[in-house]
Amino acid sequence: MFKKVLIANRGEIALRIHRACKEMGIATVAVHSTADENAMHVRLADESVCVGPPAPKDSYLDIPAIISAAEITGADAIHPGYGFLSENARFADIIEAHNITFIGPRAEHIRVMGDKIAAKEAVGKAGIPLVPGSKGELKSIDEARAAAEKIGYPVLVKAASGGGGRGMKLAPTANDIEEAVSTAKTESKAAFGDDAVYLEKYLTLPRHIEIQIIADAHGNVVQLGERDCSLQRRHQKVLEEALSPALTNDERVKIGETVRKAIESLGYLGAGTIEFLYENGEFYFIEMNTRLQVEHPITEQVTNIDIVREQINVAAGNKLSFTQDDISFHGHSMECRINAEHPKTFAPSPGKITSFHAPGGPGVRFDSAIYTGYSIPPYYDSMIGKLVVWADNRELCIARLRRALSEMAIAGIETTIPLFIDLVENPQFQAGDYNIHWLEKWLAEKA
Ligand code: ADP
Repeated sequence: MFKKVLIANRGEIALRIHRACKEMGIATVAVHSTADENAMHVRLADESVCVGPPAPKDSYLDIPAIISAAEITGADAIHPGYGFLSENARFADIIEAHNITFIGPRAEHIRVMGDKIAAKEAVGKAGIPLVPGSKGELKSIDEARAAAEKIGYPVLVKAASGGGGRGMKLAPTANDIEEAVSTAKTESKAAFGDDAVYLEKYLTLPRHIEIQIIADAHGNVVQLGERDCSLQRRHQKVLEEALSPALTNDERVKIGETVRKAIESLGYLGAGTIEFLYENGEFYFIEMNTRLQVEHPITEQVTNIDIVREQINVAAGNKLSFTQDDISFHGHSMECRINAEHPKTFAPSPGKITSFHAPGGPGVRFDSAIYTGYSIPPYYDSMIGKLVVWADNRELCIARLRRALSEMAIAGIETTIPLFIDLVENPQFQAGDYNIHWLEKWLAEKA
């Protein structure tokens, strides 16, 4: 097992990884920017290294600075968390070249899944159902037109390198295709330095359902069931639940096994998530994330598996500590992403937290790095905590969520807590009757 792990991240996920390491008897190294000197991940880690100024590109994304920090402190592994360098294949290659272990998948898999066109081809061959779409990259507008005619409008133009909902443009009719392609290309070039785009059938009222998997280097792959992440705003997840209220147990078993077999055939290592859109009983692959996800705790709650611990375990070359037969699902879990944002306008609200009271009690978990007196810097993501609740069934889970939300107090900044307080009272949410557009419609009606 590793002796010392460097955590190449900040905020709640840096704490989450630190906690897993401590429970495994592993020392931790935090890296931080000058803006994060007083951050909780720095305070809790055994050692810390300042890697640069506030801008992510000069600190948390600075590969030489992070490798130097690992070498100076003698770390034998690096955990990238999510975001930042977590899906950077070059980073994984460089780490390995320095004889340090990357706690994540092999670089080749990060590379393939990072290119959505290559990813669709790879998982399609492995037996995973795809969204009908163009055969690879669109080389010209004529090709786009022909592909769209074949698939049928509406179609979605998507960036091969896309992420965070960027580089995605809807073409409702043939009149819109030219503009959709050119805007998607421009946006993608600006955001990702790559203007390759492809086409997909636009599914009108799907749910977003994703399967968590984890694999070791000995050929064992286990799937940990699904998460329903349909409650989104601007293609960003807002509240997630496990398991999905929309699937029958037969559907769950079938898609889980399809995914497990496909991942096994790809020879994948570590944790990963296969994302699908789900409509009229059918699953359509959209992408694979080759990293730990923000919403992993809800899967941990319903399976009793510590996903981060297991990531570290398999990265060290050990076998998974469980088999598929050991996995069963119990109860229901939900996660609210608490952002430092105005709950109506969603304007970022950085600044000093003048007082903070965390919710607690049975079935409540609050993954966060905030504390009273902490100043949220304006340079990073606005998510400041994840309220995760678990109960015996979905109805009790909602009751517990309502109770936990009412206990939580964060003063000095605006947060999205009021949004969730409203949401839990909504009958359609309570019935689990929603799709990927539902939340935005609800927000618009409320405004
Ligand atoms: P990103 O990597 O930018 O997050 P994804 O491919 O994961 O992009 O898609 C993000 C979200 O965009 C999905 O959860 C869904 O809400 C929407 N979306 C993506 N593809 C389609 C599609 N073919 N039809 C309808 N909605 C889609």
